[in-house]
Amino acid sequence: MRANTWAGRNKVEVRDVPDPKILNGRDAIVRITSTAICGSDLHLVDGYVPTMQDGDVLGHEFMGEVIEVGSGVDPGRLRVGDRVVVPFPIACGACGACAAELYSCCENSNPNAGIAEKMFGHPVAGIFGYSHLTGGFAGGQAQYARVPFADVGPLKIESDLTDEQVLFLSDILPTGYMGAEMCDIQPSDVVAVWGAGPVGQFAMDSARMLGAAKVIAIDKEPYRLRMAEQAGHTPVNFEEVDVRSRLLELSGGRGPDKCIDAVGLEATHGSAHIAAYDRIKQAVRSESDRPHVLRQAIMSCRSGGVVSVIGVYGGLIDKFPAGAWMNRSLTLRTGQCHVRRYMKPLLERIERGEIDPTRIITHTLPLEEAERGFEMFKNKQDDCEKVVLKP
Ligand code: NAD
Ligand code: ZN
Ligand code: ZN
Repeated sequence: MRANTWAGRNKVEVRDVPDPKILNGRDAIVRITSTAICGSDLHLVDGYVPTMQDGDVLGHEFMGEVIEVGSGVDPGRLRVGDRVVVPFPIACGACGACAAELYSCCENSNPNAGIAEKMFGHPVAGIFGYSHLTGGFAGGQAQYARVPFADVGPLKIESDLTDEQVLFLSDILPTGYMGAEMCDIQPSDVVAVWGAGPVGQFAMDSARMLGAAKVIAIDKEPYRLRMAEQAGHTPVNFEEVDVRSRLLELSGGRGPDKCIDAVGLEATHGSAHIAAYDRIKQAVRSESDRPHVLRQAIMSCRSGGVVSVIGVYGGLIDKFPAGAWMNRSLTLRTGQCHVRRYMKPLLERIERGEIDPTRIITHTLPLEEAERGFEMFKNKQDDCEKVVLKP
């Protein structure tokens, strides 16, 4: 089959790779009809995750048709012919973490749990197309994918919604929603969101859906800020104004009640993070060349507020403002999204027309043009917000 693969730092390549096969009784093979490029893929392509190998198949946002199931898959749950969206964290459905709906912390789905344990203190779930730290599973920017524990994760789509309407249930819609949900939004809340990328846009829409009075979008890309503004949010360009002062102005002098970091690694690429990843030390950019979003969010948030982190972090970061966090009674919440928890309720919201996930799609390309898609998305060319690939 054809698949988009990691080919070294800043290089992806669509190549011929072996077709996936059923390896375990609870696997399914999905023929992929739509897949997308994510900000998380950029961390891999940037070379900030050292456990990538040449030829690894990328992609963790995908959907398609089930064409084969293992003997252990309950036919009541999944059958050949079903149309499914696949959540990015692979979850066994039976461990303590899964029982608590902490699917991205599944204790059984990552065959390389030992690497994750060294890095993070405890194992994390397997993830499609997301390096050997999370299991080395082949990803979904491909014609076919093997889906482990296929009777747990995949969500069947039984209505006639288009791929574009439901594809983002695989990751970024639940992730943005979780970012807002972790904020316990109250009707008078001012919510500030750092990052007007796809994840940030859905965090903003979700904050409004959950009742926030005002939602602020912080970024530097004018077209991304425009997109947020068109959706009803208040733009702040961090290259043009002092972010903290502007946020105070927009929140009656107290600071936003809730702050969401939908940027993560991109804004740090910091020395301490990289020190934890010794092998890619050369890739370091100085931490001082970007404002540090997490620090800015903590320093801006009103006392007693919530800082919700959905941007991805890897190793360590410098200068965490523990004093502000402690002395001003802030709550810090975070996580890789527990996607499965949110898929059904968000599908229902899409069906009811409460949220339109298609609004962020700016480019649809054949899989063969994945390289161009990555280039546009990474370099913010041609007003690129979200690329959907068609295998
Ligand atoms: P993206 O790269 O398209 O968007 C990031 C945006 O942040 C860009 O528009 C960039 O201009 C902006 N930005 C950079 N520095 C900034 C700063 N200092 N202040 C404000 N904005 C700044 O990526 P995306 O697809 O929207 O993903 C965003 C983040 O969410 C990534 O870190 C990604 O890995 C993460 N993510 C997390 C989960 C999860 O489960 N928690 C799931 C998916 C993605
Ligand atoms: Zn993603
Ligand atoms: Zn589990």
